[in-house]
Amino acid sequence: MESANRLKQQEYGAIERAPQPRNMIENSMFEEEPDVVDLAKESPSYPIDTDDVVYEPRSSRLLVRGLGENDLDEDEEDYESSARLLGMSFMNRSSNQRSAASSYIRQHYSGSCSMPSTKTMVVGVVVLVLVASMLMVLYFLLGCNFTTAGCQKTNSTMDSIYPNSTNGELFPWADLRLPCSVHPVHYNITLHPDLTIMTFQGSVSILVQVLNETKNIVLHSSDMNIIKATFDGKEVHFLEYKPWQQIAFKFPEDLKKGQYVLNIRYTANLSSSYDGFYNSSYVDTNGIKRVLAATQFEPLAARKAFPCFDEPAFKSTFTIKMTRESKYISLSNMPKVITTDLKNGLEEDEFEKSVNMSTYLVAFIVADFISVSKNVSKTKVSVYAVPDKKEQVQYALDTACKLLEFYNSFFKNEYPLSKLDLVAIPDFLAGAMENWGLITFRETTLLVGSNSSAIDKQLVTSVIAHELAHQWFGNLVTMQWWNDLWLNEGFATYMQYMSIESVFPGLDIDTEFLNVRFKALAKDALNSSHPVSTVVSTPEQVEEMFDSVSYEKGASILLMLNATLTDGEFQKGVTQYLQKYKLSNTKSENLWNSLSQVSKQNLSVSEMMNTWTVHKGFPLVTVKRSGTQVTLTQEHFLLNAENSTDDSLWHIPLTYVSDKCSVLSSCKQVFHLKEKTATLKLPDQVKWLKFNVRSDGFYIVHYDEEGWKDLIGALKEDMNVLSCKDRAALINNIFALSRSGKVSFRQVLNLMDYIRNENETAPVTEALFQLGQIYRLLDKRSELNLASRMTSYIEDHFGSLMENQSWDLETSVSKMTLRSALLEMACSLNIRNCTTQAKHLFDQWFTSNKTSQIPSDLMRTVFKVAAQTDEGWGKLLDMYKHSINDPEKHKTLEALASTQDVWKIIWILQKSLDGSEIQTQEFPLVINTICKSFAGYLYAWDFVKENWDKITQKFSVGSFAIQSIIMSATSQFSTKTHLVEAQNFFSSLGTKGSQMRIVQEAIETIKLNMRWMENNLNTLQSWL
Ligand SMILES: [Zn+2]
Repeated sequence: MESANRLKQQEYGAIERAPQPRNMIENSMFEEEPDVVDLAKESPSYPIDTDDVVYEPRSSRLLVRGLGENDLDEDEEDYESSARLLGMSFMNRSSNQRSAASSYIRQHYSGSCSMPSTKTMVVGVVVLVLVASMLMVLYFLLGCNFTTAGCQKTNSTMDSIYPNSTNGELFPWADLRLPCSVHPVHYNITLHPDLTIMTFQGSVSILVQVLNETKNIVLHSSDMNIIKATFDGKEVHFLEYKPWQQIAFKFPEDLKKGQYVLNIRYTANLSSSYDGFYNSSYVDTNGIKRVLAATQFEPLAARKAFPCFDEPAFKSTFTIKMTRESKYISLSNMPKVITTDLKNGLEEDEFEKSVNMSTYLVAFIVADFISVSKNVSKTKVSVYAVPDKKEQVQYALDTACKLLEFYNSFFKNEYPLSKLDLVAIPDFLAGAMENWGLITFRETTLLVGSNSSAIDKQLVTSVIAHELAHQWFGNLVTMQWWNDLWLNEGFATYMQYMSIESVFPGLDIDTEFLNVRFKALAKDALNSSHPVSTVVSTPEQVEEMFDSVSYEKGASILLMLNATLTDGEFQKGVTQYLQKYKLSNTKSENLWNSLSQVSKQNLSVSEMMNTWTVHKGFPLVTVKRSGTQVTLTQEHFLLNAENSTDDSLWHIPLTYVSDKCSVLSSCKQVFHLKEKTATLKLPDQVKWLKFNVRSDGFYIVHYDEEGWKDLIGALKEDMNVLSCKDRAALINNIFALSRSGKVSFRQVLNLMDYIRNENETAPVTEALFQLGQIYRLLDKRSELNLASRMTSYIEDHFGSLMENQSWDLETSVSKMTLRSALLEMACSLNIRNCTTQAKHLFDQWFTSNKTSQIPSDLMRTVFKVAAQTDEGWGKLLDMYKHSINDPEKHKTLEALASTQDVWKIIWILQKSLDGSEIQTQEFPLVINTICKSFAGYLYAWDFVKENWDKITQKFSVGSFAIQSIIMSATSQFSTKTHLVEAQNFFSSLGTKGSQMRIVQEAIETIKLNMRWMENNLNTLQSWL
């Protein structure tokens, strides 16, 4: 899946890397039905550093785990179950805390399921009766009312052992994970959505395999009305436990091993949120509203469309039949086999039986889309969109075909289906979703119009490359459980950059990937980060895994590994891994083993890579040189390292260059640092050393005073002694070190002295991003004098480069990226005649009825300037309402939201939340844009607070959207007053969000901003 938030890694202007919320939220699993949904996040399975966080960490909530972890032997299992039943079973969600607190519990997180033995059940029932009797006695003796606060906890303990079903009967299962006694083999699913009344009827027939004798079958189901269930043809009674979205069938006798058929008929509403089987609509160019139904199941919403075993390891085959009105088409993962006329204007499409796959990859759509197609090898590739946008699908088709050819050859395993559809959905919250054979996209991430720029194409190409890579990483081979989500997302992200670099070298994807690594480092330097591979149990924790750590850090450590292995080994290992595990499930270890087997340097890939997936954060390497003797020390890099006692060690494949040889790729030297400290002996004297060549490694580097001085001197003399990526990395690292307090801001400015000569995209955009962040904080604190001096500083260092930028059409992505960053900054600071130029271009464009062109990469800058007058804003609003060109529409909306007029700000906030004139999917973007400006950020914060209930009805608690909203609304705060206000608000949310990880991140960020201001205001006064 691709999050809408991470679609474009950098945004400039008043400059900010779009806040990448990565965290998430929590629905109460215990008090009410979880509002499971959505896409992005991560999870706290480590002991959270609470010194900085006033909120109760998620992990402090108590959780009763269900009976039996995987693979427990019987005695151990009985002990655990009995202990749990005796009330010893409360454990922290944090695995580390859990293992410390409960030494009798073995940890088995990556297995697929759990099953109580008969013996356990007997012991359990006996103990349950005993405990219940004791509690009854206590109840009467103490006169305690179980509903009062004093006794609530005891009561909930009892409830949680075997919870009550909706009808009051005891539900026969007490674990969030399903038992493994029964596996699905095949699903026959028949659906009939009614797009007029927005409901659907469904029938699912599941062929199940009973692997161990059992009296129960437990599976997932959510938000549906079950009409009838039969088991092997006989009607059966079922129980439902809504908080865990589970249903169970109880049988009087043990079911013998073998195959059975479970049939369930049900009805449900087409969801009005963005997951499950949901309804969507759009207005065509004739002003007519058209409706459609589509699906978004990852991670936990297949259960909203049909009852199923909704865990990734329960792979199965699927046959889907869809009834629809004849004016629509229907699509699913597999090609259509036959259409039957059902009369009364209804038809039924039947699709081929699928390959063996996980439930979250199932998909279907009913809509009135058009398509274009082309064949690649044995696969028919098609792109679908609404009829009005049929001119915008060709680029996606050509791109998908080229990338499919690349992956077919790179993975040496051909894409296994005979068709691959890419569909642009008009209202879609994620960026895209890799459903096998039926990939869904936002319109902006798939459609390319005739005046789209190469930067727009870079975005579309990236998302297609990511989703196609998932057809292997994720679909063909799937992680066993969500703790290893990074195997899907980190890999797809890495492959997206690698494939584009090879197939579309002109798209300058390398610079984009460098920015991605910088962004991942910034996120991972917070205390609220988490390890790549993290224990997850609850739905909230599953959703939290879709975050920057799984995606960007995952991709970054794969790059580091590939750069460490010698030629071809990475591809060879990956190919072997796919061949060995295709159509099944894996853990990180399986991948490392496949790579270790092909490594000629006898590198233990597992040993090295585990240090990168098990610890949260990343190392800071400090380099001290004395002659030819270099001392290297590693420590966990945290922006706020106060009170940190972390002694994590990483196996770092350090790379370095020196003045002897620095630019050619053959210059790179490697040194494996595994210990806290090591000494490297150089063969010759050198003038300077630069570590982490091209920033291919996921760590940052600090030098001693001499080391920095030598590097800064070398740059001033001739910056070309280092590659532009190395220069960008020095800028990135020194700002991070300054933010952590390890170097002074004066030192930062020393390094930045060379930048007047700089004209390469990567270092310039990184420097502008860093300076823009500081400018914004100063602006928001009304440090007007310093903000204006920062403006002068930027003009002094970048002014001539800004002036040298052309406003004409440009074809080089790198040049477009450079000039759009420079000009957006210049216009936002109102320097170097930028706004005059922009206004002129807008007027010319508008009066020529758009026959003259605004280069697409400059559109946002030009529109933002135009949006600052009533007249311009009105014109833009009118364009927004009528445009069918998505990239243009997107930039228009950003411009509208950048207004400084508070009435317009309030209007746009309201309209994007209620969805009337601006699609609700754009609300997070609107908030993000408004919060960049001084005029809007406090209004946006108030609006979020006042409308929290409404917002969480539209966007699930925990979704990317919610994370983005929180981070955008708070990341500009740097005062005690705002800190307290944010703390108070989040504390008041209770189950509606107080325990989100993003809340911890937001608070940590405000504190870091405060500290930076405290430490650096004086320096800025003297040095700017
Ligand atoms: Zn993905």
